[in-house]
Amino acid sequence: PAMFDGLTASLSKAFKGLSADGRLSAENMKEPLRDVRRALLEADVSLPVVRRFIQKVEAKALGVEVLDGVTPQVAFVKVVSDELVELMGAAGSKDLEPAAGGEGSPQVVLLAGLQGVGKTTAAGKLAMFLTKRRKKVLLVATDVYRPAAIDQLVKLGSKIDVPVYEEGTDASPVDIAARGVAKAVAEGYDAVIVDTAGRLQVDEAMMAELRAIKAAITPSDTLLVVDAMTGQEAAGLVKTFNEQVDLTGAILTKLDGDSRGGAALSVREVSGAPIKFVGTGETMEALEPFYPERMANRILG
Ligand code: GDP
Repeated sequence: PAMFDGLTASLSKAFKGLSADGRLSAENMKEPLRDVRRALLEADVSLPVVRRFIQKVEAKALGVEVLDGVTPQVAFVKVVSDELVELMGAAGSKDLEPAAGGEGSPQVVLLAGLQGVGKTTAAGKLAMFLTKRRKKVLLVATDVYRPAAIDQLVKLGSKIDVPVYEEGTDASPVDIAARGVAKAVAEGYDAVIVDTAGRLQVDEAMMAELRAIKAAITPSDTLLVVDAMTGQEAAGLVKTFNEQVDLTGAILTKLDGDSRGGAALSVREVSGAPIKFVGTGETMEALEPFYPERMANRILG
């Protein structure tokens, strides 16, 4: 099933509204631009993001010379496509950052997120992703507030054959994280994924704990896991966390259930942090690096 069906259909309709007289003039683009704007708003992209996007598309398209044999639609779609890629973060897109400690030290990935967004699942998927790249991976469970969360990670780990470091619920999350990473260093792991407590809402205790864990383990990546189905809210959460704990990026889960696309389109523009991975299902294999170009192609159908 195609994601973002509605967006794809309404954009395609917007492009058809371009008159065929061969020029991308302000007059000719007025209606199609209005339709693109409406399509993006319906996809749950925030108004300031949509405004900037439309301004950029218009400015760029006005400067495009439509060549013989190319329809104005094709030229216009190219501009929209380029701007979509730009919006989602073309330059230097990559997945995980290299190990902060240099050659021989493990990549350390710190995962944060609210309860229910798919954080534990994402930890397992990421471990699996790295295992497939022949990395030796350790998972670390630090959610001492919810024994069930630790159990869930331990179960996932055994399912995908990745060890899970945990100390139950009596130790402090900072100490568990530090000892987990120390174990990974001592035992020659290539990567360690530290899962943190999922809370019902953003609060200062959560941020303080994350900052403390971060200071203790100096992760190569700090990723916020957000649910695509929450649209603009997901983008806003990435912004808040990026301001407070400095993220290297986001993992956008449940993209398979997101028919609109607002989060995928807004996260980077709203927060300054790129989406690095997307979750596309409940299985451990359903994780993909986020490629803005591929996503733009998918959206344009
Ligand atoms: P946590 O509370 O953030 O750790 O959330 P969980 O990892 O326990 O996931 C919550 C629910 O979302 C579970 O039923 C997962 O199977 C489901 N889930 C997680 N990621 C995805 C995804 O990418 N797509 C779909 N469809 N479901 C997902």
